[in-house]
Amino acid sequence: MKTAKPSPDTAAPHGHAHDHDHAHEAHDHRHGEGGANGADGAHGASLESALAMAEAYCRERGEKLTPIRRKVLELLLTSGRATKAYSLLDEMRQIHPGSAPPTVYRALDFLLSAGLVHRIESINAFTVCHDLTQCQHGILVVCQQCGNVTELHEPKLRQALVAQIEAAGYRLSGDGIELKGVCAQCQAAQAEAAGADSAQAVKATAQS
Ligand SMILES: [Zn+2]
Ligand SMILES: [Zn+2]
Repeated sequence: MKTAKPSPDTAAPHGHAHDHDHAHEAHDHRHGEGGANGADGAHGASLESALAMAEAYCRERGEKLTPIRRKVLELLLTSGRATKAYSLLDEMRQIHPGSAPPTVYRALDFLLSAGLVHRIESINAFTVCHDLTQCQHGILVVCQQCGNVTELHEPKLRQALVAQIEAAGYRLSGDGIELKGVCAQCQAAQAEAAGADSAQAVKATAQS
């Protein structure tokens, strides 16, 4: 289950000039309601409103969500999970046959620096930030099998973790805190496969 996409009722990005690097400011945004639309990916109205919100967010920062940046963001919103750069490029090429890799990478770089998108290091993929109204990112839990990403917005938990890390003499090198996991759907699929296996005494190594 996904957490908040930018949703119509949480619209109006307020005061977003905050810098994502100021990781220690305790901005206590609430983000309860928007989170429950549970669908995979954003569609129709919610997709449009998420894009409109991203556009407003960029405008506030004095930057521009150009058509290509917007398209890449739209592809990520529609996918609803972490997506590899080359899949994004493939999709771009279906829309704009001439799309070159640098075009897509530059758009991704922009979206990353704007904080609209996360790079998921463990599976080398990208996903939309699940809540544009957060001044700092949450803790990402990433399914290593299907790329499902859930962003936990627990500022206190994050701060406690960062405090421990700093007490140990470290400074985080990015604003992403990423945990590896296997999502509920993939666990269910695994359990099913394991059940089928023991019934048939067949090895499942060839399954994907
Ligand atoms: Zn985020
Ligand atoms: Zn999964």
